[in-house]
Amino acid sequence: MTGNAPSSELLDRFAAIVGDTYAIRDPKAMGAYVTEPRSFYEGASPIVLRPGSTQEVSEILKLASETGTAVVPQSGNTGLVGGQIPRRGKPDVILSLDRMNKVRDIDPVANVLVVDAGVILADVQKAAESVNRLFPLSLGSEGSCRIGGNLATNAGGTAVLAYGNTRNLCLGLEVVLPTGEIWDGLRRLKKDNTGYDLRDLFIGSEGTLGVITGAVLRLFPRPVGHQVAFAGVNSPEDALALFDLATGLCHTALTGFELMSRMSVDFAVRHIEGVRDPLPDGEYPWYVLIDISTADSEESAEALMTTVLEQGFEQGFVVDAVIASSVAQQTALWHMRETVSEAQKPEGGSIKHDVSVPVSRIPAFLAEADAVVKKTIPGARICAFGHMGDGNIHYNVSQPVGADKKAFLDRWHELNHAVHAVVLSYNGSISAEHGIGQIKRDELAEVRGEGIELKLMHRIKAAFDPAGIMNPDKVLKVR
Ligand code: FAD
Repeated sequence: MTGNAPSSELLDRFAAIVGDTYAIRDPKAMGAYVTEPRSFYEGASPIVLRPGSTQEVSEILKLASETGTAVVPQSGNTGLVGGQIPRRGKPDVILSLDRMNKVRDIDPVANVLVVDAGVILADVQKAAESVNRLFPLSLGSEGSCRIGGNLATNAGGTAVLAYGNTRNLCLGLEVVLPTGEIWDGLRRLKKDNTGYDLRDLFIGSEGTLGVITGAVLRLFPRPVGHQVAFAGVNSPEDALALFDLATGLCHTALTGFELMSRMSVDFAVRHIEGVRDPLPDGEYPWYVLIDISTADSEESAEALMTTVLEQGFEQGFVVDAVIASSVAQQTALWHMRETVSEAQKPEGGSIKHDVSVPVSRIPAFLAEADAVVKKTIPGARICAFGHMGDGNIHYNVSQPVGADKKAFLDRWHELNHAVHAVVLSYNGSISAEHGIGQIKRDELAEVRGEGIELKLMHRIKAAFDPAGIMNPDKVLKVR
């Protein structure tokens, strides 16, 4: 580690705030905090601090501000853009929220859950379930990611179509500012038009404006009926037509509409234990997973799903389909969809694009992007899948068979630029749900150019964090 490393006296002062047991200084004991899931970013840190209360977070940030020490907030360390990992060669202190994991209050009548920021997402879901309510945020990483990280990244996931992003699931926040001041915005109000919305500024700010320490979350009634189906279709155009049909028939009961290319299904079947092709009698170029939830009965969900598929067959959009006949089968279909990214690993290097375009432009985007990829890296294998109903495609590209992995990955930015140019031509987003972090920081600046948007972001950053200690060089480059 280079840069101005904090002195051992300063590290002692930080450690004293949380107690020695919760201050990790031995690099060998830091493994889980300094490497992220894909191992793209590996950092080092002079100290990992694991505070147990909002007050301790406040004391840490106050000392960091006074001494100009950079702090990287971290929750579950499942982020995919390197935001939670210290910068290479900089002595960034890691502030982990993993000890702040208590449910503070639950009010099913008001449909409200108040939690510490370090509660694991799966535990938030369980807490809601314990009072017969639903917390709808659901991600492949839900067993490890924590609600503070979900809020800081405005995570998306599988239920955005019906319930929105994490932003839509939050009523209030408690945040410690870089100065150490505590903002108690733990309001439980659906209606609150009292000036600028600070909550929405912190949500999605990826730890660059402050540390989220608590949140008021929205709960929903648990659906009674639930059906999941998997259908083979001939083209993204047919998938789109089926989405339109399903939206018209289901209204708010349509809770998920996912698209998968044949290659993504092939990879999952080949590499993920227990995953089988749900439609083994044929091979189709594209597949959709349809998820329907109803408030009244299982029968109504079944009737709705049957109608969608019957009309899809009649109108020629659906070629083959299966409806899950048990909860286990429903889970298996979702599992296949959620493990595609993991299934790409044994196929070698994979260059990722987490993009969104207006839903109705998805077929055109896919056609153009495919042409660009084939021209840029002949033989590269396109593994496109994602949340079609949200316009969000994980447009992943696996290396050509037999290619050199490093040589392929060296072309990451070149391919990103080429694919993102297509995305932008549709007024789309180069980061639909994973954020900017380190990986897309420079590209964000390029995409926004000299326009007012980036200038405003820098002004907001300077207003909240004048000392520049809060996750520096993430999202925005330090100027
Ligand atoms: P971390 O990784 O610890 O941090 C993420 C960012 O938030 C960092 O910039 C960090 O500095 C900041 N941060 C963390 N905690 C705080 C805090 N308390 N206050 C302020 N800033 C903070 N993402 C999706 O959106 N949709 C998906 O479907 C999805 N699926 C995934 C599946 C897998 C298998 C994996 C590994 C990841 C997936 N992700 C997905 C990405 C990731 O899980 C999400 O971004 C998640 O919200 C990150 O939460 P975390 O607790 O792990 O945060």
